[in-house]
Amino acid sequence: MEKRSWAEPYKIKMVELLKMTTREQREAAIAAAGYNTFLLKSEDVYIDLLTDSGVGAMSDRQWAGMMMGDEAYAGSRNFYHLRDTVETYYGYKYTVPTHQGRGAENILSQILIKPGDYVPGNMYFTTTRLHQELAGGVFVDVIVDEAHDPASTHPFKGDVDFNKLNALLDEAGADKIPYVCIATCVNMAGGQPISLENLRELRTWCDQHDILLVHDMTRVAENAYFIQQRETGYQDRSVREIVHEICSLTDAATMSSKKDAMVNIGGFLAMNDEGLYEKACELVVVYEGLHTYGGMAGRDMEALAIGITESVQDDHIHARIGQVAYLGESLEAEGVSVVKPYGGHAIFLDARAIVPHLPQEQFPAQALAAALYVDAGIRAMERGAVSAGRNRQTGENHMPKLELVRLTIPRRVYTQAHMDVTAESVVEVMKNAASVKGLRFTYEPGVLRFFQGRFEEIE
Ligand SMILES: *Cc1c(COP(=O)(O)O)cnc(C)c1O
Repeated sequence: MEKRSWAEPYKIKMVELLKMTTREQREAAIAAAGYNTFLLKSEDVYIDLLTDSGVGAMSDRQWAGMMMGDEAYAGSRNFYHLRDTVETYYGYKYTVPTHQGRGAENILSQILIKPGDYVPGNMYFTTTRLHQELAGGVFVDVIVDEAHDPASTHPFKGDVDFNKLNALLDEAGADKIPYVCIATCVNMAGGQPISLENLRELRTWCDQHDILLVHDMTRVAENAYFIQQRETGYQDRSVREIVHEICSLTDAATMSSKKDAMVNIGGFLAMNDEGLYEKACELVVVYEGLHTYGGMAGRDMEALAIGITESVQDDHIHARIGQVAYLGESLEAEGVSVVKPYGGHAIFLDARAIVPHLPQEQFPAQALAAALYVDAGIRAMERGAVSAGRNRQTGENHMPKLELVRLTIPRRVYTQAHMDVTAESVVEVMKNAASVKGLRFTYEPGVLRFFQGRFEEIE
């Protein structure tokens, strides 16, 4: 078959210059950052693959929208544009803007969760689980086992395992389960999608037991693309149509618009139920701002509305995921262990395979991310024992099966050559893996410790 390359449906008209550093400078910088890539200064980073959150490149149209901000305290024109866009593309009737995704999670958790409740989900997400716990709930992982196996090539690792869900139902009872929380393109599983077949079955299950279905829709467009590519019956459906269908199966949604929707800041809570909307409006004024801006500037709501429209275009998402796959293929060709299938927003390195001499207590993924930075100035993120944190009841470390380093690709930001440099650097670090040292905490924050924790090398 003739090879046909993916390519971006845009061209570059403005660039941001990067500082180049030496290995000595990077060694000093990572030590000063306590071997935590979150604590590096951005200007000391060459290729920033820390996250895909808030780091996408906005289009000229989005920038033009920034000039059309209606910064009224109440009833901004941009709010109505955003609300209508959410309804058009996602189908949710009511929208409450929030400063970002976790603002929406806070409000939703406080409204729906009572102390002693259980919240099943297709794998935890850091901020989502924390807000569920702060509201008195206990998160229960009901994702399929394949999601925890980096070697499994299951096409829909984001699917729910109904045996796990039913086991929770038998144990806890439906009245202790306020909702099921479903993420599309599950971040912590490596950007893995849920199938529409599974989601439809879940909708039926929720209806049977009178339990709400809440959608963490942060990466819904990427999930829709995978459905189009992999699920029978969807080859001829547009990403936009599939996105709408996914949303139509759920009751409410939390959104971090810093991902799919390609803005630097913002989020929202959306729902179809008027009563839930009224309660959300009461709480949003406490934590975020009035219900027509919720912590966002008018101009940011405008850029978000335009970004949503761009995010569901087939050409855009094809190039976006094509670039991620290109990095994955480049790494695999060199024998690097990566999570398969490739995720929508990132390639995940299997740290257990790359630095097998480090026990999990010495945080192999954290150590590998630090080594990658030192090699070529590429900033990645740990997704393993450090991110998993401690059990809030027992205080013991969670020891997740997956010990991963996430190379997250910002949307519309880097070129194919940047991906080549990244792959070359990973291969170089892998060749010298034996010299990567384990880490121990010198400072461990009480919550979300991966953000601000500090480490030292174990000699
Ligand atoms: C980023 C993210 C969130 C939280 O959103 P913020 O905008 O960072 O507060 C929630 N869920 C998922 C899956 C995410 O990726």
